[in-house]
Amino acid sequence: MKGKKRIFLGIMIGVFSVLGVIALSLAYIIGKGRVEFYRYLLLVLVFGALFLMALIVIAVGATIYIVFSNKPSKFLNSLIANLLDIFYPVVILIARIFNLKIERVEQSYIEIKNFLFNKSIKKYNPQDVLILAPHCIQYSGCKFKVTYNIDNCKRCGKCQINDLVNFKEKYGVNVAVATGGTLARKVIKDIKPKVIIAIACERDLTSGMQEVKKIPVYGIINERPNGPCFNTRVDVSKIEETIKKLLNGG
Ligand code: SF4
Repeated sequence: MKGKKRIFLGIMIGVFSVLGVIALSLAYIIGKGRVEFYRYLLLVLVFGALFLMALIVIAVGATIYIVFSNKPSKFLNSLIANLLDIFYPVVILIARIFNLKIERVEQSYIEIKNFLFNKSIKKYNPQDVLILAPHCIQYSGCKFKVTYNIDNCKRCGKCQINDLVNFKEKYGVNVAVATGGTLARKVIKDIKPKVIIAIACERDLTSGMQEVKKIPVYGIINERPNGPCFNTRVDVSKIEETIKKLLNGG
């Protein structure tokens, strides 16, 4: 299992251990019999902790199974994806408490989701594929408005919007540029893609991947050589590789 995936799963195992200690402590207190009044409340807490521990075992166990198994399982993939989303806020909270770099945890989440995506890849028609890029990829000095309608790009090559238009022409896939979540949701509603290649920073990708449940999303983190949200870049070879996989069925 690659390093980044381990960060998210490792924190989940940490949560499992804490829950175990809580459940054992509460069981000990109940066993001592000095808490008649709170007995039932404590029992509920013990069972709650045990339930969450069971979910973590399922999520981590299923991920390890998928990593080492060659058999794709749609059911297991969606189970893991849902459990990751359920535990996401807890994992982020733990990361904050222990002063871990949130970006690294987000990268770990995206890597696990991409891994699950690759394990259940299907063949798609070009018109069912949407490449969704953030507005900050456009050259800041460009006077043409490519948001929503990428065909307004004049192909000067000063930014990678030019490469995205190339992909649109070469493969026939949809390409859209969105300024934020609201426009991204509108694009998805209008185009109705069956699969999305989303380009964004870690924070926007994790929130988008959690929001879009019914459509598989492959996340590509953008590069920020000029700082966040300004003249960002993306590894276009990763986009092209993913388009080919989707059009060929893996
Ligand atoms: S490639 Fe297109 S979007 Fe980028 S700067 Fe040139 S005209 Fe503007």
